[in-house]
Amino acid sequence: SLQVNKLTIVEAYNVLEADGIISARQGAGYFVNSINRFSAKLKSTFAPVQNVIIPEQGRSSFFDMYTATVEAQTQPGMVNFGCGFPHPPKDIDLIARRALRQAPDGLFKYDLPQGQLTLRRQIAQMLIQQGMEVTAENLIVTSGSEQGLSLALQYYLQPGDWAIVETPTYFGALASLENLGAKIIGIPMTAQGMNLDLLEKYLKSHRPKLIYTISALHNPTGITTTQAHRQALLALAEKYECPILEDNAYEGLTFEPAPAPIKAFDKQDLVIYLGTFSKTLMPGLRVGYMVVTGKHFHKILERKLLHDLHTSTISQAIVSEYLASGHLRRHLNRLRTENLHTRDVMLAALERYFPQEAKWTVPKGGLFLWVQLPEHTPIQTIRIEALSQNVLVPCHSVFFPDRKGYPAMRLTFTPSPEEIEQGVSVLGKLLKRYLYA
Ligand code: PMP
Repeated sequence: SLQVNKLTIVEAYNVLEADGIISARQGAGYFVNSINRFSAKLKSTFAPVQNVIIPEQGRSSFFDMYTATVEAQTQPGMVNFGCGFPHPPKDIDLIARRALRQAPDGLFKYDLPQGQLTLRRQIAQMLIQQGMEVTAENLIVTSGSEQGLSLALQYYLQPGDWAIVETPTYFGALASLENLGAKIIGIPMTAQGMNLDLLEKYLKSHRPKLIYTISALHNPTGITTTQAHRQALLALAEKYECPILEDNAYEGLTFEPAPAPIKAFDKQDLVIYLGTFSKTLMPGLRVGYMVVTGKHFHKILERKLLHDLHTSTISQAIVSEYLASGHLRRHLNRLRTENLHTRDVMLAALERYFPQEAKWTVPKGGLFLWVQLPEHTPIQTIRIEALSQNVLVPCHSVFFPDRKGYPAMRLTFTPSPEEIEQGVSVLGKLLKRYLYA
């Protein structure tokens, strides 16, 4: 008979529990968690590839990917699965005109680096509702959260320092880390958030200077880190005195209330929090914000001044007027309803057209989901063929610290239901042709 070491079985139970497939109940044993039709297909732990990466300098994949996606926006007939922002609010032009008409004198002058007080107060109110203790004095309005990202990375990291990211992760963060000459440790995502056992292992062995996490509706997987995982992550950061950069770019787009941000539990000024209006209003406004507490605030503010003096006063006034109008709640409700519908259209299309071996996440909001494909999928060939049929899929490798990763697709569900159906069917046919040839 087959001999299996008991430790192997214990380890298997641990893995299943960490992946959310089973739960332990004290005194009663292990139980299989309920899974819906879609999440049954989700591969709960992303392949633990590439834990320690020393990137080469000077790669331009961020530039290529960004410019290709922006250019594709204007191409007629293209099903763009790469685009990372939602439809803008219908009434934004009215609000913008009103903001300019009512413009106080200061609107056209130089401003303070931290941004306009009214806007900072409004943002503080939004964050308080999410459970964060914050005032206008802890807030810096940034030129998109991209600027907050680079300010925080520059503040914490010197060339040669180790930084921890989730694998896969936002390619803009990887590009900024590479640009700084940081060395990257990629910790695989699980269905609950980054793998905490591996995180602790690398916190101990490499003493990284920063953990970068996208806590809600993670880019690119769409996974929201659970409440328990957030607290455990913060506890580890405290134990090893490692700062966290919490990027919450997609937070406003949740279908159901998300757990409170990690920053809400931060008592030691270890967490810098990033938010943005790019995903809820318009990316072209370039208005984001960062919450920085304690001694770090002034040091980061001085850097902000060096970057661009301050964020555009006109953009700030438009956002502020939009928040004052009370239209944001209605706009977000509309976006959520639309996105929930198109997400479900995409899930149904994936079931229908994609091969059995493909697994995908079922995000509780945001703009995209992540499809994991078999190792031998010729993904680049498929992308190129799809593009010749007017279907754009972003290059999966830009999301991995080693720029290789495993075959995967990040698919945005903001195109129309018809476009999604058409685009997914093109991709599905190509995948089946190449996988079953
Ligand atoms: N963080 C994440 C996770 C993102 O996906 C993006 C943009 N796609 C940004 C930050 C930057 O966004 P922005 O500068 O427009 O706020």
